[in-house]
Amino acid sequence: MARHTSEELMAVEHEYGAHNYHPLEVVICKAEGIWVEDPEGRRYMDMLSSYSAVNQGHRHPKIIKAMKDQADKVTLTSRAFYNDQWPLFAKKLADFTGKDMILPMNTGAEAVETAIKTMRKWGYMVKGVEKDKAEIIVFQDNFHGRTVTIISFSVDPDAKDNYGPYTPGFVLVPYDDLEAVKKAVNKNTVGILVEPIQGEAGVVVPSDGFLKGLEKIARENNVLLALDEIQTGFCRTGKDFAFQHEGITPDIIIMGKALGGGIMPVSAIAANKDILGVFKPGTHGSTFGGNPLACAIASAAIDVLKEEHLAERSEELGKYFMDGLKAIKSPKIKLVRGKGLLIGLVLNQSAGKARLYTTALKQKGLLCKETHDWIIRFAPPLVIKKEEIDEALSKIREVLA
Ligand SMILES: *Cc1c(COP(=O)(O)O)cnc(C)c1O
Repeated sequence: MARHTSEELMAVEHEYGAHNYHPLEVVICKAEGIWVEDPEGRRYMDMLSSYSAVNQGHRHPKIIKAMKDQADKVTLTSRAFYNDQWPLFAKKLADFTGKDMILPMNTGAEAVETAIKTMRKWGYMVKGVEKDKAEIIVFQDNFHGRTVTIISFSVDPDAKDNYGPYTPGFVLVPYDDLEAVKKAVNKNTVGILVEPIQGEAGVVVPSDGFLKGLEKIARENNVLLALDEIQTGFCRTGKDFAFQHEGITPDIIIMGKALGGGIMPVSAIAANKDILGVFKPGTHGSTFGGNPLACAIASAAIDVLKEEHLAERSEELGKYFMDGLKAIKSPKIKLVRGKGLLIGLVLNQSAGKARLYTTALKQKGLLCKETHDWIIRFAPPLVIKKEEIDEALSKIREVLA
């Protein structure tokens, strides 16, 4: 096959691919660790990690090996039969999350849907909420995925408009506002669905005590607390899960992205038996959920996090990176915020839109993505080295100072 240039490939995508994304103008055809390469052989440092789905680095050898080995044995059985990978992966993820049980799906949105179904079913079967009256509390500027039910409680017009009629049963309150949550709770409330840090909203870190406060409200009112750790989980913020910064115990942990080791979509929710026990055969499922290939990959993905101490790395290097960004003296920078290696740099509006800077950084060999108009998110693979962060900082300095 003839080799295509970046220009050609972008033109073909434009012609034949639906325009539901606005990518930076770079074509990636190879990757390893934190580095990616385009067809012209230019190298770039990946500072997005596919929205935190590549925490272990691109093509981690151990995860690739697990994938190849499993591909040579069996890849898909459906849950009509048992397979030899899902039980062991379920146990491993249950241990990792500290929960009794796992329900496996594929994409993040499916895991969020699963959490919503769990909270509702628990509400009717255990809490005794009147039929079809269940309410779930959600937050302003949330991002939980793209299904019709999930975008029904989005406040982003791009994500939501012209997709109605919307799914009812969600009560929207301001993020980081415990009083608003207290006011919103009533006898029909079955759950609270929250991101411990709002990634897509621009790496919005809530006040200390917010998650603890949610936990308290949930306990006092017999309401389930579901943490969407799809972006923040698997060591991204300096702990295995972001909720661990506050030492809370959520009822449901929603996972995706890096669980698939940057190779394929693997998602799941974890909860205890009194909650996941609401599911009986036939009441929920997924053809590919729990498939042996995904389970082998995800097991290796978890092993890598532990063996390479990626939580500690993320914590330490995140501080280093954030301090470096904060030290850049520039009237263009309004503030820098984040936890671990999930960092948002908020621009002053006088600086012009973030896209200007992500484009300029791409020119210098650093890939990152704007979120909304004024925020740049930095989320490199957690295997990044200190010297590479220094290199990134000098590029960012050149573009922003
Ligand atoms: C990415 C993301 C999702 C959706 O995951 P998909 O795999 O794209 O469906 C849900 N919640 C959060 C917090 C995310 O970052």
